[in-house]
Amino acid sequence: MNYISTRGQVEPKGFVDTVLMGLGEDGGLMVPESIPTVSEETLKQWQQLGFRDLFIEIFSLYANGEIPQEDLKRLVDASYATFRDPEVAPVRKLNDSLYILELFHGPTFAFKDVALQFMGEFYSYVSKTRGEIIHILGATSGDTGAAAIQGVRGKEGIKICILHPHEKVSKVQELQMTTVNDENVLNLSVKGTFDDCQRIIKELFSDLAFKSRYHLRAINSINFVRILAQTVYYFYAYFRAVEQIGDASKKINVSVPSGNFGNIFSGYLGKKMGLPIHKLIIATNENNILERFVTTGEYQPGEFRKTHSPSMDIQVASNFERYLYYLLGEDSAQVREYMGKLASEGKIVVDGELLKRVQEEFQALGATNEQNLELIGKYRSETGYLLDPHTACGVAASEAFTEDGEVTVSFATAHPAKFDEAIRLLDITQEFPVEIAELVAKDQYQTVIDNDKAEVTRQLEVFFAGDAVSKP
Ligand SMILES: *Cc1c(COP(=O)(O)O)cnc(C)c1O
Repeated sequence: MNYISTRGQVEPKGFVDTVLMGLGEDGGLMVPESIPTVSEETLKQWQQLGFRDLFIEIFSLYANGEIPQEDLKRLVDASYATFRDPEVAPVRKLNDSLYILELFHGPTFAFKDVALQFMGEFYSYVSKTRGEIIHILGATSGDTGAAAIQGVRGKEGIKICILHPHEKVSKVQELQMTTVNDENVLNLSVKGTFDDCQRIIKELFSDLAFKSRYHLRAINSINFVRILAQTVYYFYAYFRAVEQIGDASKKINVSVPSGNFGNIFSGYLGKKMGLPIHKLIIATNENNILERFVTTGEYQPGEFRKTHSPSMDIQVASNFERYLYYLLGEDSAQVREYMGKLASEGKIVVDGELLKRVQEEFQALGATNEQNLELIGKYRSETGYLLDPHTACGVAASEAFTEDGEVTVSFATAHPAKFDEAIRLLDITQEFPVEIAELVAKDQYQTVIDNDKAEVTRQLEVFFAGDAVSKP
Protein backbone atom coordinates (compact mmCIF):
# COMPACT_ATOMS: atom_id res chain seq x y z
CA MET A 1 0.00 0.00 0.00
CA ASN A 2 1.19 3.48 -0.82
CA TYR A 3 0.51 6.76 0.90
CA ILE A 4 -0.54 9.98 -0.78
CA SER A 5 -1.12 13.55 0.30
CA THR A 6 -4.55 15.06 0.89
CA ARG A 7 -3.38 17.82 -1.47
CA GLY A 8 -2.37 15.32 -4.14
CA GLN A 9 1.06 16.71 -4.97
CA VAL A 10 3.41 14.19 -3.36
CA GLU A 11 4.66 11.12 -5.24
CA PRO A 12 3.17 8.01 -3.59
CA LYS A 13 5.37 6.77 -0.73
CA GLY A 14 5.82 3.58 1.23
CA PHE A 15 5.00 3.28 4.92
CA VAL A 16 8.38 4.05 6.52
CA ASP A 17 9.03 6.96 4.15
CA THR A 18 5.59 8.33 4.97
CA VAL A 19 6.34 8.27 8.68
CA LEU A 20 9.71 9.93 8.10
CA MET A 21 8.10 12.63 5.95
CA GLY A 22 5.51 13.60 8.57
CA LEU A 23 3.72 16.56 7.01
CA GLY A 24 3.30 16.04 3.25
CA GLU A 25 5.84 17.96 1.18
CA ASP A 26 2.98 19.82 -0.49
CA GLY A 27 1.66 20.99 2.89
CA GLY A 28 -1.04 18.30 2.97
CA LEU A 29 -1.41 15.32 5.29
CA MET A 30 -0.46 11.79 4.29
CA VAL A 31 -3.23 9.20 3.99
CA PRO A 32 -3.33 5.61 2.70
CA GLU A 33 -4.17 5.31 -0.99
CA SER A 34 -7.06 3.12 0.05
CA ILE A 35 -8.29 2.12 3.51
CA PRO A 36 -8.16 -1.64 4.13
CA THR A 37 -11.41 -3.15 5.35
CA VAL A 38 -11.80 -6.07 7.72
CA SER A 39 -14.50 -8.71 7.39
CA GLU A 40 -16.89 -9.80 10.13
CA GLU A 41 -14.95 -13.04 10.23
CA THR A 42 -11.71 -11.17 10.97
CA LEU A 43 -13.43 -9.03 13.60
CA LYS A 44 -14.53 -12.23 15.30
CA GLN A 45 -10.93 -13.47 15.39
CA TRP A 46 -9.65 -10.12 16.60
CA GLN A 47 -12.16 -10.15 19.44
CA GLN A 48 -9.94 -12.80 21.07
CA LEU A 49 -6.68 -10.84 20.86
CA GLY A 50 -4.86 -8.91 23.55
CA PHE A 51 -3.82 -5.31 22.88
CA ARG A 52 -0.35 -6.17 21.57
CA ASP A 53 -1.47 -8.83 19.10
CA LEU A 54 -4.26 -6.60 17.91
CA PHE A 55 -1.71 -3.85 17.32
CA ILE A 56 0.38 -6.18 15.16
CA GLU A 57 -2.64 -7.31 13.09
CA ILE A 58 -3.84 -3.77 12.38
CA PHE A 59 -0.37 -2.40 11.77
CA SER A 60 0.41 -5.20 9.32
CA LEU A 61 -2.49 -4.10 7.10
CA TYR A 62 -0.78 -0.74 6.62
CA ALA A 63 2.96 -1.41 6.72
CA ASN A 64 3.45 -3.34 3.44
CA GLY A 65 5.71 -5.84 5.17
CA GLU A 66 8.36 -3.11 5.37
CA ILE A 67 9.06 -4.19 8.95
CA PRO A 68 9.61 -7.93 9.42
CA GLN A 69 7.03 -9.51 11.72
CA GLU A 70 9.50 -10.46 14.46
CA ASP A 71 10.95 -6.92 14.53
CA LEU A 72 7.47 -5.46 14.75
CA LYS A 73 6.66 -7.77 17.63
CA ARG A 74 9.79 -6.65 19.46
CA LEU A 75 8.92 -2.97 18.91
CA VAL A 76 5.39 -3.47 20.20
CA ASP A 77 6.56 -5.40 23.26
CA ALA A 78 9.13 -2.74 24.11
CA SER A 79 6.57 0.05 23.60
CA TYR A 80 4.00 -1.33 26.02
CA ALA A 81 6.38 -2.81 28.59
CA THR A 82 6.39 0.63 30.23
CA PHE A 83 2.62 0.59 30.84
CA ARG A 84 1.41 0.08 34.39
CA ASP A 85 -1.69 -1.91 33.42
CA PRO A 86 -1.14 -5.35 31.85
CA GLU A 87 -4.10 -4.75 29.51
CA VAL A 88 -2.52 -1.44 28.33
CA ALA A 89 -5.95 0.18 27.89
CA PRO A 90 -8.59 -1.36 30.19
CA VAL A 91 -12.31 -0.63 29.93
CA ARG A 92 -14.24 0.05 33.15
CA LYS A 93 -17.96 0.25 33.71
CA LEU A 94 -19.28 3.37 35.45
CA ASN A 95 -23.00 2.71 34.90
CA ASP A 96 -25.25 0.81 32.48
CA SER A 97 -24.82 3.29 29.66
CA LEU A 98 -21.33 4.59 30.36
CA TYR A 99 -17.99 2.80 30.17
CA ILE A 100 -14.55 4.38 30.43
CA LEU A 101 -11.57 3.43 28.28
CA GLU A 102 -8.54 4.23 30.42
CA LEU A 103 -5.77 5.45 28.16
CA PHE A 104 -3.56 6.92 30.89
CA HIS A 105 -1.50 3.95 32.08
CA GLY A 106 1.65 4.89 30.16
CA PRO A 107 4.73 6.66 31.52
CA THR A 108 3.32 10.21 31.30
CA PHE A 109 -0.25 9.44 32.38
CA ALA A 110 -2.04 10.57 29.18
CA PHE A 111 -3.25 8.80 26.05
CA LYS A 112 -0.40 10.23 23.96
CA ASP A 113 1.84 7.53 25.41
CA VAL A 114 -0.01 4.83 23.50
CA ALA A 115 1.18 6.14 20.14
CA LEU A 116 4.37 7.91 21.19
CA GLN A 117 5.98 5.03 23.06
CA PHE A 118 5.65 3.09 19.83
CA MET A 119 6.87 5.99 17.75
CA GLY A 120 10.01 6.31 19.89
CA GLU A 121 10.80 2.63 19.38
CA PHE A 122 9.97 2.93 15.69
CA TYR A 123 12.28 5.90 15.09
CA SER A 124 15.04 4.19 17.00
CA TYR A 125 14.58 1.10 14.82
CA VAL A 126 14.65 3.14 11.60
CA SER A 127 17.72 5.01 12.79
CA LYS A 128 19.53 1.70 13.33
CA THR A 129 18.34 -0.24 10.29
CA ARG A 130 18.49 2.59 7.75
CA GLY A 131 21.20 4.73 9.28
CA GLU A 132 18.80 7.68 9.23
CA ILE A 133 19.49 10.77 11.35
CA ILE A 134 16.39 11.44 13.43
CA HIS A 135 15.92 15.02 14.65
CA ILE A 136 12.46 15.30 16.13
CA LEU A 137 10.75 18.67 16.24
CA GLY A 138 7.33 19.13 17.77
CA ALA A 139 4.87 21.47 19.41
CA THR A 140 2.80 20.48 22.41
CA SER A 141 -0.10 21.68 24.48
CA GLY A 142 1.53 19.59 27.22
CA ASP A 143 0.93 15.89 26.84
CA THR A 144 2.46 15.15 23.43
CA GLY A 145 5.76 16.73 24.44
CA ALA A 146 6.02 14.81 27.67
CA ALA A 147 5.12 11.53 25.99
CA ALA A 148 7.46 12.09 23.04
CA ILE A 149 10.37 12.99 25.29
CA GLN A 150 9.78 9.88 27.39
CA GLY A 151 9.60 7.87 24.18
CA VAL A 152 13.07 8.88 22.94
CA ARG A 153 15.12 10.23 25.88
CA GLY A 154 18.59 8.78 25.92
CA LYS A 155 18.05 6.89 22.65
CA GLU A 156 21.08 6.83 20.39
CA GLY A 157 20.83 8.52 16.98
CA ILE A 158 17.85 10.66 18.01
CA LYS A 159 17.52 14.26 19.20
CA ILE A 160 14.26 15.88 20.18
CA CYS A 161 13.21 19.52 20.51
CA ILE A 162 9.78 20.35 21.89
CA LEU A 163 8.06 23.75 21.92
CA HIS A 164 5.45 24.33 24.60
CA PRO A 165 3.48 27.51 25.43
CA HIS A 166 5.15 29.23 28.39
CA GLU A 167 3.07 28.89 31.57
CA LYS A 168 0.09 27.52 29.65
CA VAL A 169 0.66 23.87 30.44
CA SER A 170 -0.18 22.19 33.74
CA LYS A 171 2.51 22.00 36.42
CA VAL A 172 2.83 18.24 36.09
CA GLN A 173 3.07 18.47 32.29
CA GLU A 174 5.81 21.08 32.61
CA LEU A 175 7.72 18.97 35.12
CA GLN A 176 7.40 15.81 33.05
CA MET A 177 8.99 17.58 30.08
CA THR A 178 11.58 19.72 31.77
CA THR A 179 12.98 17.48 34.50
CA VAL A 180 14.59 15.33 31.82
CA ASN A 181 18.28 16.13 31.51
CA ASP A 182 19.34 13.77 28.74
CA GLU A 183 21.67 15.41 26.22
CA ASN A 184 19.33 14.59 23.34
CA VAL A 185 16.40 16.64 24.70
CA LEU A 186 15.76 20.39 24.27
CA ASN A 187 12.67 22.11 25.74
CA LEU A 188 11.76 25.53 24.32
CA SER A 189 9.17 27.39 26.38
CA VAL A 190 7.57 29.87 23.97
CA LYS A 191 5.89 33.05 25.19
CA GLY A 192 2.68 32.45 23.25
CA THR A 193 -0.13 29.92 22.85
CA PHE A 194 -0.06 26.34 21.61
CA ASP A 195 -1.37 27.57 18.25
CA ASP A 196 1.68 29.87 18.01
CA CYS A 197 3.99 26.91 18.69
CA GLN A 198 2.18 24.77 16.16
CA ARG A 199 2.34 27.51 13.53
CA ILE A 200 6.10 27.89 13.94
CA ILE A 201 6.58 24.13 13.61
CA LYS A 202 4.37 23.97 10.56
CA GLU A 203 6.33 26.78 8.90
CA LEU A 204 9.66 25.12 9.66
CA PHE A 205 8.45 21.83 8.23
CA SER A 206 7.17 23.63 5.13
CA ASP A 207 10.67 24.97 4.50
CA LEU A 208 11.82 21.84 2.67
CA ALA A 209 15.46 22.93 2.46
CA PHE A 210 15.58 23.50 6.22
CA LYS A 211 13.71 20.28 6.88
CA SER A 212 16.12 18.15 4.88
CA ARG A 213 19.26 19.98 6.03
CA TYR A 214 18.39 19.25 9.65
CA HIS A 215 16.69 15.86 9.09
CA LEU A 216 13.53 17.06 10.81
CA ARG A 217 10.99 14.42 11.80
CA ALA A 218 7.51 15.05 13.17
CA ILE A 219 5.89 13.60 16.23
CA ASN A 220 2.71 15.65 16.08
CA SER A 221 -0.48 13.83 15.24
CA ILE A 222 -0.10 14.96 11.64
CA ASN A 223 2.13 11.87 11.51
CA PHE A 224 0.15 8.94 10.19
CA VAL A 225 1.85 6.40 12.46
CA ARG A 226 0.26 8.07 15.48
CA ILE A 227 -3.18 7.90 13.92
CA LEU A 228 -2.65 4.24 13.19
CA ALA A 229 -1.40 3.32 16.67
CA GLN A 230 -4.47 5.00 18.16
CA THR A 231 -6.84 3.12 15.90
CA VAL A 232 -5.84 -0.05 17.77
CA TYR A 233 -7.57 0.96 20.98
CA TYR A 234 -10.84 1.75 19.23
CA PHE A 235 -10.97 -1.90 18.21
CA TYR A 236 -9.78 -3.01 21.62
CA ALA A 237 -12.34 -0.85 23.46
CA TYR A 238 -15.14 -2.05 21.23
CA PHE A 239 -14.29 -5.71 21.85
CA ARG A 240 -14.03 -5.27 25.63
CA ALA A 241 -17.29 -3.31 25.71
CA VAL A 242 -19.08 -6.06 23.75
CA GLU A 243 -17.89 -8.62 26.33
CA GLN A 244 -18.76 -6.54 29.35
CA ILE A 245 -22.18 -5.40 28.12
CA GLY A 246 -23.18 -8.95 27.18
CA ASP A 247 -26.19 -7.73 25.19
CA ALA A 248 -25.63 -7.82 21.44
CA SER A 249 -28.59 -5.53 20.75
CA LYS A 250 -26.86 -2.55 22.36
CA LYS A 251 -25.23 -0.07 20.01
CA ILE A 252 -21.80 1.12 21.05
CA ASN A 253 -20.74 4.76 20.76
CA VAL A 254 -17.41 6.33 21.56
CA SER A 255 -16.92 9.79 23.04
CA VAL A 256 -13.52 11.36 22.53
CA PRO A 257 -12.04 14.46 24.20
CA SER A 258 -10.70 16.28 21.16
CA GLY A 259 -8.31 19.05 20.25
CA ASN A 260 -6.29 18.43 17.11
CA PHE A 261 -8.81 15.93 15.73
CA GLY A 262 -6.10 13.24 15.91
CA ASN A 263 -7.68 10.83 18.35
CA ILE A 264 -11.16 11.06 16.87
CA PHE A 265 -9.76 10.69 13.35
CA SER A 266 -8.30 7.34 14.42
CA GLY A 267 -11.85 6.32 15.32
CA TYR A 268 -13.12 7.53 11.97
CA LEU A 269 -10.45 5.39 10.31
CA GLY A 270 -11.44 2.38 12.44
CA LYS A 271 -15.06 2.84 11.45
CA LYS A 272 -14.10 3.06 7.77
CA MET A 273 -12.18 -0.21 8.22
CA GLY A 274 -15.41 -1.84 9.31
CA LEU A 275 -15.49 -1.52 13.10
CA PRO A 276 -19.20 -1.21 13.88
CA ILE A 277 -19.04 1.84 16.15
CA HIS A 278 -22.43 3.56 16.24
CA LYS A 279 -21.81 7.25 17.04
CA LEU A 280 -18.46 9.01 16.93
CA ILE A 281 -18.86 11.76 19.50
CA ILE A 282 -16.47 14.71 19.49
CA ALA A 283 -16.08 16.32 22.89
CA THR A 284 -14.45 19.73 23.18
CA ASN A 285 -14.11 22.39 25.85
CA GLU A 286 -14.79 26.12 25.39
CA ASN A 287 -12.33 26.08 22.50
CA ASN A 288 -15.08 24.55 20.44
CA ILE A 289 -14.18 24.97 16.78
CA LEU A 290 -15.01 21.31 16.13
CA GLU A 291 -18.39 21.55 17.85
CA ARG A 292 -19.23 24.65 15.83
CA PHE A 293 -18.16 22.92 12.63
CA VAL A 294 -20.42 19.93 13.24
CA THR A 295 -23.42 22.01 14.28
CA THR A 296 -23.13 24.86 11.73
CA GLY A 297 -20.76 23.70 9.00
CA GLU A 298 -18.46 26.62 9.67
CA TYR A 299 -14.86 25.82 10.53
CA GLN A 300 -13.39 29.05 11.83
CA PRO A 301 -10.77 29.49 14.55
CA GLY A 302 -12.18 31.62 17.35
CA GLU A 303 -10.62 33.36 20.29
CA PHE A 304 -8.34 31.31 22.52
CA ARG A 305 -9.89 30.37 25.89
CA LYS A 306 -7.90 29.07 28.85
CA THR A 307 -9.78 26.10 30.32
CA HIS A 308 -9.42 23.33 32.90
CA SER A 309 -8.50 20.96 30.07
CA PRO A 310 -5.42 22.69 28.59
CA SER A 311 -4.48 19.82 26.27
CA MET A 312 -7.63 20.63 24.34
CA ASP A 313 -7.09 24.39 24.25
CA ILE A 314 -6.64 24.36 20.50
CA GLN A 315 -8.21 26.53 17.82
CA VAL A 316 -6.70 25.06 14.67
CA ALA A 317 -7.18 21.29 14.55
CA SER A 318 -4.22 20.04 12.52
CA ASN A 319 -5.83 16.73 11.55
CA PHE A 320 -9.03 18.29 10.31
CA GLU A 321 -7.69 18.27 6.75
CA ARG A 322 -7.63 14.47 6.81
CA TYR A 323 -11.33 14.37 7.47
CA LEU A 324 -11.98 17.12 4.90
CA TYR A 325 -10.26 14.94 2.30
CA TYR A 326 -12.72 12.09 2.84
CA LEU A 327 -15.68 14.44 3.17
CA LEU A 328 -14.83 15.91 -0.23
CA GLY A 329 -14.76 12.47 -1.84
CA GLU A 330 -10.94 12.11 -1.81
CA ASP A 331 -10.72 14.99 -4.26
CA SER A 332 -7.38 16.66 -3.59
CA ALA A 333 -8.04 19.59 -5.93
CA GLN A 334 -11.03 20.50 -3.78
CA VAL A 335 -9.00 20.06 -0.59
CA ARG A 336 -6.46 22.54 -1.97
CA GLU A 337 -9.26 24.96 -2.75
CA TYR A 338 -10.83 24.70 0.73
CA MET A 339 -7.47 24.96 2.52
CA GLY A 340 -6.61 27.94 0.34
CA LYS A 341 -9.83 29.58 1.49
CA LEU A 342 -9.00 28.84 5.12
CA ALA A 343 -5.67 30.61 4.62
CA SER A 344 -7.09 33.61 2.74
CA GLU A 345 -10.52 34.08 4.34
CA GLY A 346 -9.90 32.50 7.72
CA LYS A 347 -12.67 29.92 7.46
CA ILE A 348 -14.13 26.93 5.67
CA VAL A 349 -17.87 26.57 5.21
CA VAL A 350 -19.74 23.45 4.17
CA ASP A 351 -23.51 23.29 3.73
CA GLY A 352 -26.30 21.25 2.12
CA GLU A 353 -25.44 17.61 1.44
CA LEU A 354 -21.92 17.96 2.82
CA LEU A 355 -23.11 19.33 6.15
CA LYS A 356 -25.68 16.55 6.33
CA ARG A 357 -22.87 14.03 5.87
CA VAL A 358 -20.83 15.65 8.64
CA GLN A 359 -23.79 15.46 10.98
CA GLU A 360 -24.39 11.81 10.11
CA GLU A 361 -20.76 10.98 10.82
CA PHE A 362 -20.24 12.94 14.05
CA GLN A 363 -22.00 14.37 17.06
CA ALA A 364 -20.24 17.13 18.96
CA LEU A 365 -20.50 18.97 22.23
CA GLY A 366 -18.31 21.55 23.92
CA ALA A 367 -18.42 21.50 27.72
CA THR A 368 -18.06 24.80 29.55
CA ASN A 369 -15.60 25.15 32.42
CA GLU A 370 -18.50 25.18 34.83
CA GLN A 371 -20.11 22.00 33.44
CA ASN A 372 -16.73 20.38 33.51
CA LEU A 373 -16.14 20.85 37.23
CA GLU A 374 -19.74 19.99 38.02
CA LEU A 375 -19.39 16.63 36.28
CA ILE A 376 -16.12 15.78 38.00
CA GLY A 377 -17.82 16.42 41.36
CA LYS A 378 -20.95 14.50 40.39
CA TYR A 379 -19.12 11.34 39.28
CA ARG A 380 -16.81 11.51 42.25
CA SER A 381 -19.70 11.47 44.68
CA GLU A 382 -21.96 9.10 42.71
CA THR A 383 -19.42 6.48 41.66
CA GLY A 384 -16.20 7.27 43.52
CA TYR A 385 -14.43 7.59 40.15
CA LEU A 386 -12.30 10.70 39.67
CA LEU A 387 -12.42 12.06 36.11
CA ASP A 388 -9.67 14.31 34.85
CA PRO A 389 -11.03 17.51 33.24
CA HIS A 390 -10.41 16.28 29.66
CA THR A 391 -12.16 13.03 30.39
CA ALA A 392 -15.01 15.01 31.94
CA CYS A 393 -15.57 16.81 28.61
CA GLY A 394 -15.97 13.38 27.03
CA VAL A 395 -18.43 12.30 29.70
CA ALA A 396 -20.44 15.52 29.24
CA ALA A 397 -20.79 14.71 25.54
CA SER A 398 -21.62 11.05 26.33
CA GLU A 399 -24.44 12.17 28.56
CA ALA A 400 -25.75 14.46 25.83
CA PHE A 401 -25.81 11.90 23.03
CA THR A 402 -26.31 8.44 24.53
CA GLU A 403 -29.86 7.35 23.74
CA ASP A 404 -31.89 4.32 24.85
CA GLY A 405 -30.42 1.09 23.53
CA GLU A 406 -26.93 2.61 23.35
CA VAL A 407 -23.81 2.41 25.46
CA THR A 408 -21.02 4.95 25.20
CA VAL A 409 -17.38 4.18 25.81
CA SER A 410 -15.98 7.52 26.89
CA PHE A 411 -12.22 7.91 26.60
CA ALA A 412 -10.21 8.82 29.70
CA THR A 413 -7.38 10.64 27.97
CA ALA A 414 -5.48 11.61 31.12
CA HIS A 415 -5.04 10.68 34.76
CA PRO A 416 -6.55 13.27 37.15
CA ALA A 417 -3.23 13.67 39.00
CA LYS A 418 -1.91 15.40 35.91
CA PHE A 419 -4.47 18.17 36.23
CA ASP A 420 -4.71 18.75 39.94
CA GLU A 421 -5.19 22.53 39.33
CA ALA A 422 -8.79 21.79 38.33
CA ILE A 423 -9.40 19.01 40.84
CA ARG A 424 -8.30 21.26 43.72
CA LEU A 425 -11.00 23.81 42.77
CA LEU A 426 -13.49 21.17 43.90
CA ASP A 427 -11.75 20.74 47.24
CA ILE A 428 -10.95 17.17 46.32
CA THR A 429 -7.61 15.95 47.63
CA GLN A 430 -6.17 13.19 45.50
CA GLU A 431 -3.34 10.85 46.17
CA PHE A 432 -0.59 11.22 43.59
CA PRO A 433 1.00 8.24 41.91
CA VAL A 434 4.62 8.07 43.07
CA GLU A 435 5.96 8.77 39.54
CA ILE A 436 4.20 12.15 39.62
CA ALA A 437 4.85 12.96 43.28
CA GLU A 438 8.60 12.63 42.88
CA LEU A 439 8.83 15.12 39.96
CA VAL A 440 8.61 18.20 42.17
CA ALA A 441 12.01 17.67 43.75
CA LYS A 442 13.84 17.42 40.41
CA ASP A 443 15.76 20.18 38.58
CA GLN A 444 14.18 21.69 35.46
CA TYR A 445 15.87 22.23 32.11
CA GLN A 446 14.22 24.59 29.61
CA THR A 447 14.91 27.71 27.58
CA VAL A 448 12.27 30.45 27.64
CA ILE A 449 12.07 32.28 24.29
CA ASP A 450 9.90 34.85 22.49
CA ASN A 451 7.16 33.76 20.12
CA ASP A 452 9.49 34.16 17.15
CA LYS A 453 10.30 31.66 14.44
CA ALA A 454 13.77 33.12 13.88
CA GLU A 455 14.67 32.51 17.52
CA VAL A 456 13.47 28.91 17.32
CA THR A 457 15.58 28.46 14.20
CA ARG A 458 18.66 29.78 16.00
CA GLN A 459 18.11 27.39 18.90
CA LEU A 460 17.70 24.44 16.55
CA GLU A 461 20.81 25.27 14.55
CA VAL A 462 22.85 25.04 17.73
CA PHE A 463 21.12 21.98 19.14
CA PHE A 464 21.11 19.93 15.96
CA ALA A 465 24.65 20.92 15.06
CA GLY A 466 25.66 18.80 18.02
CA ASP A 467 27.22 21.65 19.98
CA ALA A 468 26.72 21.48 23.68
CA VAL A 469 23.47 23.24 24.52
CA SER A 470 23.72 25.49 27.51
CA LYS A 471 21.10 24.40 29.95
CA PRO A 472 19.90 26.96 32.48
C1 LIG B 1 -3.94 15.69 23.29
C2 LIG B 1 -5.04 15.49 24.25
C3 LIG B 1 -6.38 15.55 23.84
C4 LIG B 1 -6.77 15.91 22.41
O1 LIG B 1 -6.44 14.90 21.49
P1 LIG B 1 -6.36 15.22 19.92
O2 LIG B 1 -5.80 14.00 19.32
O3 LIG B 1 -5.47 16.40 19.77
O4 LIG B 1 -7.75 15.51 19.46
C5 LIG B 1 -7.36 15.27 24.77
N1 LIG B 1 -7.04 14.98 26.05
C6 LIG B 1 -5.78 14.91 26.49
C7 LIG B 1 -5.51 14.61 27.92
C8 LIG B 1 -4.73 15.16 25.60
O5 LIG B 1 -3.47 15.08 26.02
